[in-house]
Amino acid sequence: MPTTDKFREECGVVAIHNHPEADKLAYLGLHALQHRGQESAGIVSSNGVQLRAHKAMGLVADIFNEGVLAGLRGIHAIGHTRYSTAGDSALLNAQPIMVQSNKGMIALAHNGNLVNAGSMRRKLEAQGSIFQTTSDTEVMVHLLALSREKTLPEALADSLRRVEGAFSLVMVTPTHVLAARDPRGFRPLAMGRVPAAKGQIGDTIVFASETCAFDLIGADYLREVKAGEMVVVGPEGVSSRFYSPTLPQSSCIFEHVYFSRPDSMVFGRPVHKSREELGRQLAREAPVDADLVVPVPDSGVTAAMGYSSESGIPFKFGLIRNHYIGRTFIEPSQSVRDFGVKLKLNPVRAVLEGKRVILIDDSIVRGTTSRKLVRMVRNAGAREVHMRISCPPTISPCFYGVDTPNKKHLIAAVKSVEEIREYLEADSLSYLSLPGLKKACAEGEKTTYCTACYTGNYPTPLVDVEEILPAEALR
Ligand code: AMP
Repeated sequence: MPTTDKFREECGVVAIHNHPEADKLAYLGLHALQHRGQESAGIVSSNGVQLRAHKAMGLVADIFNEGVLAGLRGIHAIGHTRYSTAGDSALLNAQPIMVQSNKGMIALAHNGNLVNAGSMRRKLEAQGSIFQTTSDTEVMVHLLALSREKTLPEALADSLRRVEGAFSLVMVTPTHVLAARDPRGFRPLAMGRVPAAKGQIGDTIVFASETCAFDLIGADYLREVKAGEMVVVGPEGVSSRFYSPTLPQSSCIFEHVYFSRPDSMVFGRPVHKSREELGRQLAREAPVDADLVVPVPDSGVTAAMGYSSESGIPFKFGLIRNHYIGRTFIEPSQSVRDFGVKLKLNPVRAVLEGKRVILIDDSIVRGTTSRKLVRMVRNAGAREVHMRISCPPTISPCFYGVDTPNKKHLIAAVKSVEEIREYLEADSLSYLSLPGLKKACAEGEKTTYCTACYTGNYPTPLVDVEEILPAEALR
């Protein structure tokens, strides 16, 4: 049955067409996309005749080794990295999903979240479909298999027209790679090319959620896959079609605020540029007399640099992140206060002592991290701690693929900014305004954004989300 797990997905996808070591390129691409999901990862490759898959729980570096990749040797490949909930069903839901269908052997991987997956699934089950996972990606697979369209691209287009929500997907068959984005363009998907090596016939065409994956595999960025577009790559070359009329674009602005890497180009715009401008705009909107600008690493670093250069207040690393903490760690049995945060971040007393500090982070979700950090910075000797957030208050959950808790757990949904400041025990607290956020991300230039997490105005009908959510989540 659909559960709340369904909309708690953050993922990265990569696809490679026509390379003698497509499996290895997919593997490298997944390394670059690891920040988009750390729970499970998988690769399906094609040797031109058949598909082979390997997926497992854990980090990319732990799942794949020389031996595993030797078993996946192929000329085309897709890969997926997933962040979702824990539980028995987790490996079952790992992607790509590979099936033998009436359209041949296919594998599909998807970033995003369908908002009508529940009702679609019930409809399909009533027609006899048997589901093996609880993932909405499988809904697309069943729709594809049931489509009366003769060719695979037409069948995929047919099934994509029936689903509602956010999806950037990649697909591999023994001979082709397909890539598509939902008609509103919620999640990113870029296309690139690795020029043919000596002796190789034709260039390698690649797709990835973020262009940082291209840098690692030596691909040139070509363009974005457009909203409502499907790109088909095969021995006959590259072709493109729009399977749906274009709808008002609503790309996820949170990709620029937090989710994507600053070295990526997302929705055709460098993330670094947006993030630095978020900091500059924040300094203009919410100045404060202080001695230091200190980022919460890593998510607040680029915005803090922008804040510092706009305000002229020196930037210092007053908090240091331990980069070697995995997702699971053993806590001492005797309770250590603020353990989770302490394990990841440590204050630099020599920087903070006696100083009036502006602490910059990208967002406050539940408020627990910020509260601990304000206390940590103060305990390290700071005289004042001013919290600045490089986006507006997060007041509504995301149904399009970003992991956010239910509304009642979003601190800004239940408390005013002054009440949050009090809870954080900060000397002052300011968020960036919504117009400031849109301006910093160049709204209207190349794209328009979904800002539902800050406004509660969702660009799609919520379809069966009400059923998925506990009632109080939408209140
Ligand atoms: P919280 O303690 O819930 O307020 O967490 C806030 C921290 O979580 C901030 O430092 C953000 O960088 C980070 N964050 C915000 N959104 C997400 C997300 N969807 N997934 C993981 N971390 C996030």
